[in-house]
Amino acid sequence: MSDARTAKRIAKFVKPLRVKPGSSVDLAEDFDPRYKAGLKKRQGAELLRSGVSLLSEYQSRLAAQDTYGVLLCLQALDAGGKDGTIRHVMSGVNPQGVTVSGFKVPSAEELDHDFLWRYARRLPARGDIGIFNRSHYEEVLVVRVHPENLDRQKLPAEAKGHGVWHRRYREINDWERYLTDNGIKVVKVFLNLSKEEQRTRFLKRIDLPEKNWKFSAADIRERERWDDYQEAFSEMLSATSTPWAPWYVVPADRKWFARICAAAVLAHTLIGIDPQYPTVDDDARKELLAAKRRLEREAPRGAARDPYAAEHRAG
Ligand code: AMP
Ligand code: MG
Repeated sequence: MSDARTAKRIAKFVKPLRVKPGSSVDLAEDFDPRYKAGLKKRQGAELLRSGVSLLSEYQSRLAAQDTYGVLLCLQALDAGGKDGTIRHVMSGVNPQGVTVSGFKVPSAEELDHDFLWRYARRLPARGDIGIFNRSHYEEVLVVRVHPENLDRQKLPAEAKGHGVWHRRYREINDWERYLTDNGIKVVKVFLNLSKEEQRTRFLKRIDLPEKNWKFSAADIRERERWDDYQEAFSEMLSATSTPWAPWYVVPADRKWFARICAAAVLAHTLIGIDPQYPTVDDDARKELLAAKRRLEREAPRGAARDPYAAEHRAG
């Protein structure tokens, strides 16, 4: 398929997942965790394979151009599939160009800084793809659902008072705009899991010994706050999906479909950047040709002067 057709197809695929900036989201109403765009699992495997190889090519160009970076933020409720998504979507890319950062309960040092500090320290460099496994959005999710987290943040009284969440939304939007303006593109994926599918995955984590480590009693306590989280997610999606850093709500009840969506969102972002391999100017080309002639003169008796030339002519 031609590049333009592929780009168009991906754009069409991700469009229904994007949260329209300025819209008011009600997760339960607006996004179905079981949606699969009419695809079958078998078609999905083929799609993911081509998505992964597309990502690999774009990442190579992104790194060579060394002008833009990409930050992919992944958010989900427990058992939403963040780890597996990262593993599968990034399976084809050069590990040198990718950084994955996970964010857990903040350390004492982190609590001694402004709330975006620890995320800013993990931003991708130009040419890199950075993945946040959980992200600065925890600051308006878990911190909101459990306000004792806010108390621990050692903020001055005026910074935790009335309006703190709306202030944080604005600060996050401003920060992401600043990053975008400076060549770090931000894209955000929320893996949208149903309560029933979470129950099933928890049971599996309890039943299978090799999955036990993934489960903790805290997960059940968090599940009890399901409705509060849904509300916090809905508000966050409404307030922070912006033209420069949009949210995508990815249906997560089928892991294979969620992975295709995440790959497509990342591919769509890279296609938007359209990174190019640097080309050399006339002087540099002359130098290349002079170097080539010297190397050709060095060819040992009987060896081809330029073994690649025939290959190149053959295409
Ligand atoms: P996991 O990703 O399952 O290893 O769990 C990490 C835990 O860290 C989750 O329970 C998150 O809710 C928690 N966490 C992540 N970021 C924050 C934050 N900024 N404040 C408080 N807890 C957090
Ligand atoms: Mg966990």
